[in-house]
Amino acid sequence: MAVNFKEKYGLFIGGEWRDASDGKTFDVTNPANGEHLAYCAEATEKDVDDAVKAAWAAFPAWKEVQPQDRAAILNKIADRIDENAELLAAVETLDNGKPIRETTFIDVPWASEHFRYFAGAILTQQGSATVLNTPNITGNALSIVLREPIGVVGQIVPWNFPFLMAAWKLAPVLAAGDCSVIKSSSTTPLSLIVFLELIQDLIPAGVINMITGKGSKAGQYILDHPGFRKLAFTGSTEVGLSIARAAAEKLIPATLELGGKSANIYFDDCNFDQAIDGLQVGILFNQGQVCCAGSRVFVQEGIYDKFVDAAIKAFEKVKQGDTMDMNTQIGSQVNEAQVKKIASYIEIAKQEGATIACGGERATEGDLAKGCYFKPTLITNVTNDMRVAQEEIFGPVAVVIKFKTEDEVIKMANDNDYGLGGAVWTRDIYKAIRVARAVETGRMWVNTYNQIPAGAPFGGYKKSGIGRETDLSIMDAYTQQKNIFVNLSEETTGFYPQD
Ligand code: NAD
Repeated sequence: MAVNFKEKYGLFIGGEWRDASDGKTFDVTNPANGEHLAYCAEATEKDVDDAVKAAWAAFPAWKEVQPQDRAAILNKIADRIDENAELLAAVETLDNGKPIRETTFIDVPWASEHFRYFAGAILTQQGSATVLNTPNITGNALSIVLREPIGVVGQIVPWNFPFLMAAWKLAPVLAAGDCSVIKSSSTTPLSLIVFLELIQDLIPAGVINMITGKGSKAGQYILDHPGFRKLAFTGSTEVGLSIARAAAEKLIPATLELGGKSANIYFDDCNFDQAIDGLQVGILFNQGQVCCAGSRVFVQEGIYDKFVDAAIKAFEKVKQGDTMDMNTQIGSQVNEAQVKKIASYIEIAKQEGATIACGGERATEGDLAKGCYFKPTLITNVTNDMRVAQEEIFGPVAVVIKFKTEDEVIKMANDNDYGLGGAVWTRDIYKAIRVARAVETGRMWVNTYNQIPAGAPFGGYKKSGIGRETDLSIMDAYTQQKNIFVNLSEETTGFYPQD
């Protein structure tokens, strides 16, 4: 589908689109061919302040909207996404460089599913009432617990799943009755903008406000603003630390979804056909730019040689090409900086004595030379202490490490700062559960990879973050408990006799 982008997109504040207060914009391009797509507004400190004020102005009425009515709005948003799925998928592909089959079958439908899930989630929210009959001065009482929205939330999302990560943030905010000031990545702002254009008539003005601009400016203005009651961030561990510091200084909570270096563990008794498919889903999906990518691949010695041979063949067969072609399996990295970062890790791997078994360089055949394409890469002769086995590369690059025993692989899997994803491949269910429990990570798949539908909690252990998203538990993070404590007796406490 051809997309007619506007020449310039503004900020969405208080239900209206407007230029940045100083009129500045930044350029957005398609990383697959370098073509200019549009200009977006570079938000100033004043714009962020206006967005916070608009959100607080909307909050009193929005928090009183009945759960059934909020649920209806979320379902309508999901319908609107489904009706415009082709457009949203095309926008995301053009802006990000990911292939159209991924945006069509994953990013967009998973986003709409998210709004539908949280439409249901709202209706499950219940308070409680408990009779307390305690001795001493309390007497007979009724404790009523309600969950109330927090207020205005600052939300910052990354470039790797720009629309889906925004859906992860916005669906629970709307469900909980909060208001948002959300900032997309300046690398990929367009899908969130087009989405808001499509749904603006469904939400009251000011409930969602959108800021575009660079992290170091617009992002920093969000961190510095005193008007937020919560921050929610998805992105790198490095920036996540700044978010945590900003939240600590304001004494407000922060949900942090950060980076990873996840262990993808193959035992000798795995289903071999599934294994290679799972390896590719784990590291090639989204050009390897996935927080929970299966980038550290552990293979048991009995199948190691066969596994590496099959993996090389599979990686070399992957179809890399025009991102708008439904047959393209791997697209462009998001920008030149990512290609440089990945290439630098290939050099590090060579210096560390590892072997580049396939790939290891930029793809430049034909039109690929115009974009930020990198060949699917497998690095062997790797030990777990090497930098390529410890640090997040964020590209289609898997390191393969041989292991002998279950204890040995668990120890290696845990010898890493991160703990976001991971998988174990085996036909032995007892071993699968043992290993899944022993690996220190927020999500461990068994005989599958990179499945993140709404309905199961997703989030990190260790340096991969704080808090969970994508299931009911996030509703607690966007609400707070109100306790109403009712005296059921007409007696005085007797503590200060009145005679
Ligand atoms: P990033 O941390 O560079 O940027 C993320 C967002 O933060 C962007 O909107 C950016 O503009 C903003 N930002 C940057 N500096 C800022 C600052 N000083 N103050 C405020 N905001 C600032 O991350 P990225 O490169 O966009 O995304 C890739 C990273 O995101 C990877 O590390 C990946 O693992 C992680 N990620 C994690 C999850 C998860 O669920 N755990 C999901 C997707 C991506």
